[in-house]
Amino acid sequence: MNQDGDAQRGAKDQPPEPDYPRYRVEPGNRVSLAAIDPDETEHYRKKKNVARELEKQRRRIQNLQARLYAENERGMLIVLQAMDTGGKDGTIKHVFSGVNPQGCRVSSFKVPSAEEANHDFLWRYHKSAPATGRIGIFNRSHYEDVLVVRVKNLVPEDIWRERYELINDFEHGLTANGITVLKFFLHISKDEQKKRLQSRLDDPDKRWKFSSNDIKERAFWDAYQQAYEDALGNCSTQHAPWYIVPANKKWYRNLVVARTIADTLEAVDPRYPPAEEGLEKVEIPD
Ligand code: AMP
Ligand code: MG
Repeated sequence: MNQDGDAQRGAKDQPPEPDYPRYRVEPGNRVSLAAIDPDETEHYRKKKNVARELEKQRRRIQNLQARLYAENERGMLIVLQAMDTGGKDGTIKHVFSGVNPQGCRVSSFKVPSAEEANHDFLWRYHKSAPATGRIGIFNRSHYEDVLVVRVKNLVPEDIWRERYELINDFEHGLTANGITVLKFFLHISKDEQKKRLQSRLDDPDKRWKFSSNDIKERAFWDAYQQAYEDALGNCSTQHAPWYIVPANKKWYRNLVVARTIADTLEAVDPRYPPAEEGLEKVEIPD
């Protein structure tokens, strides 16, 4: 083969870089959420423009997850954080539909139980971290312990400040054991939150999702944005990057998350284990 051909094949064999570096927080960078437009949709205009593209990304995830499961050497942790109504549940539903439930687990974290509160803050998260072969999805996560905990003064500042480093070490420990860590902040505007809360009130089928507590939390919007900026800035690392996903348009949010997961799984490049030797001679008895 000529040199050009070799070079081309070489490029194709390289696992692709995740396709949305534009939304990745570079380690050490300060984050300004006000500078990131939650309405961004690139060149896409409508949900129907991305339907096929989203389906393609979902199929990539399904395929790669089947390999990850069979290989059973590596795993993936996906962290989802957002303001209330930011779309964590919808993202899980739309991005992971069709993934084999056996290889996938969603953990949702609420106010800690008495038992959880009596342990170090990482205890409950570490217990839910994915095993090899699995994809773990955290619907809220250890980041709550530098977000709600900070905004609502649940522990003193010197305690939560130390947690950025503890979180980075925890995530580094996971990656050192073959678990790729991917973190998404679903970025919505304050206006969009108002609309979504209103639609929960207006639609009888959505009313169960409405919590009066969301109204109380909304009053702390600015303090939460500040806490998010510090968390994303301090804890986006080479081994466990944060992505800030424009999330006012649900269909664009789903596409960005699906594509980033698919690209990252492809870079992990899980392989089916080799088959037993001599299978070509095996005959199934009648
Ligand atoms: P939801 O996700 O809407 O069901 O609400 C879960 C609630 O649990 C949210 O109000 C979170 O702020 C709260 N929560 C989650 N983790 C923690 C934590 N570590 N400490 C205190 N509150 C938490
Ligand atoms: Mg809620």
